[in-house]
Formats: sequence, C-alpha cells, structure tokens
Amino acid sequence: MLLEHKFVEFIPEKVKEGLLYISIEYCTAIHKCVCGCGNEVVTPLSPTEWELKFNGKSITLHPSMGNWNFECRSHYWIRSSKIEFAGCWSKKEILKGRAEDLNAKKFFYNNERNEVKDALIRLIKTGFINQAFAFIKKLINFILKNKEI
Ligand SMILES: [Zn+2]
Repeated sequence: MLLEHKFVEFIPEKVKEGLLYISIEYCTAIHKCVCGCGNEVVTPLSPTEWELKFNGKSITLHPSMGNWNFECRSHYWIRSSKIEFAGCWSKKEILKGRAEDLNAKKFFYNNERNEVKDALIRLIKTGFINQAFAFIKKLINFILKNKEI
C-alpha cells in the first residue's frame, strides 16, 4: 500500500485519503488514518516528534504512527511512501512508548537549556558582560554630562 505525498503551504480543510500533506512552513504533516476510519493523523515535525525524510521521490516518517487514541488503534510505519502495518500494541507497550517519548523530550530540552547556560557562563568568563556594563555606564554618564552643557 502506497501513500502519496504533496508539499503544501497550508493544510487543506479537506484531507484526501491516501495522501500525506506536508507543510514545511508550519513543520507539520497530516494524512487520514490508513485503516480507512477517516480520522486525521497529525504529525508535527520536530526533533522530539516526527522526522521526515524526502529523497526526491518517496517519504519516510519516523517514528511509527501509533493511533492509540482512535477506535481503530492502528499502528503502522510510513517507509519510502509504503505503509507497513506494525501490529497493535498492548497497553503496557503504549505506556512504555509514551515514557520513552517523554524521556527523549526531557533530554532534548535539558540539553537546550544547558547550551544556553553554557553560553551565558562563557560570556561571564570572558568578561564580556562586565565590559558591556562598563560601556553602558560610560555611555550614560556621557549622555548625562552632555545634557548639562
Ligand atoms: Zn484508523
């Protein structure tokens, strides 16, 4: 089973079956659940959500679509534009998957936070902030003095 794709700026109101819409502008993709239940599967594209690969011809979305919130509870992969059914997960597997997802998110955001912290520490260590403050102080003094004249 193949899933066609279409690059769009805006996601259309009516999502056609068998077509994956990809909006690079809004970092999101959407398609109708491939089981035919009619539900729309939204896959935000981000380092902690879905990764989209496009080789000029076919697309791959990673990780799999686990539609546990739909009645159909379908689970499938989209690899090289092909639908590969992955079997239903047990409740335990779903919970495990969610926990792993959360951990991945935490790891990512902690890393980002640490990068900002490191950058700030570097600025302080190199004395940049002190120099910037000294400059601003001088500038204010200069402006105030000139005002008096
Ligand atoms: Zn479905």
